[in-house]
Amino acid sequence: MSRSESPEVEWDRLKAHELRALANENAVVIFPVAATEQHGPHLPTMTDTRIGGEIARRAARKACARQPTVVAPVVFSGLSGHHMPFGGTLTLDHETFIAVIECLVRSAIRHGFRKILLSNSHGGNITAIQFAADRLAQETGAIIVATTYANEAAQTIAPILDDQPGIMHAGEAETSMMLALEPDLVDTSDLTSLNTDRGRGFLYAGKASYRWRPFQHMTGNGVSGLPAKATADKGKRLLDASSDAIAALIMDARTWEPALDRRDHDVGGVPFR
Ligand SMILES: [Zn+2]
Repeated sequence: MSRSESPEVEWDRLKAHELRALANENAVVIFPVAATEQHGPHLPTMTDTRIGGEIARRAARKACARQPTVVAPVVFSGLSGHHMPFGGTLTLDHETFIAVIECLVRSAIRHGFRKILLSNSHGGNITAIQFAADRLAQETGAIIVATTYANEAAQTIAPILDDQPGIMHAGEAETSMMLALEPDLVDTSDLTSLNTDRGRGFLYAGKASYRWRPFQHMTGNGVSGLPAKATADKGKRLLDASSDAIAALIMDARTWEPALDRRDHDVGGVPFR
């Protein structure tokens, strides 16, 4: 592939030999991991997939001059069991979801890629991608990093939002990004009526403990937060901030440094094996 101003970063637009060349360059492979699920009455079910793919592609373009990077097609279905009661939702079960991720990552590793970024855009996937990262790293010896843009970019996302501390489901932030990306797919006719309590406490118990809950536990319309606060301009800034954060993660040499071995040679007088 040419290394011109804006090199192609999408795996499925490249040819096999171009991907072999990227493996030889020790490129990062981003696997965007998302969801197809209900996002209230105003947003399409593609929301997490559209946003997550966009952030991954922008991050790759920003990073690739410093660190060659390629983006695999988005994994469009994740763990969305908590959204099933609202309809419109395609979910995998845990075993299948983890198996899909692991098969895709092992494919890239077989082709010689050694730097893998699982780039997630759906809260329900967070623990499972960490599980996959743990297992793949120990199995393959490759460097597997799992990230969720809402967390990686949290510090720069927060000041953009008026109502929310961060990304919430179908609220101010996601509605803003979809207004920026797919305005024709956002029903803005009555956003004020969709405003819901932020629902703090969902997925929490006690002070710092976790409890799974179905989404109707916190909202009657599938929305968390205030979609009426959304603007396309906020959406542009959120996409910039999020892709900047993922690009910074990719370009940070510490992200990919080999694991050190700091063991002393003779602790207790017996060599390590
Ligand atoms: Zn979402």
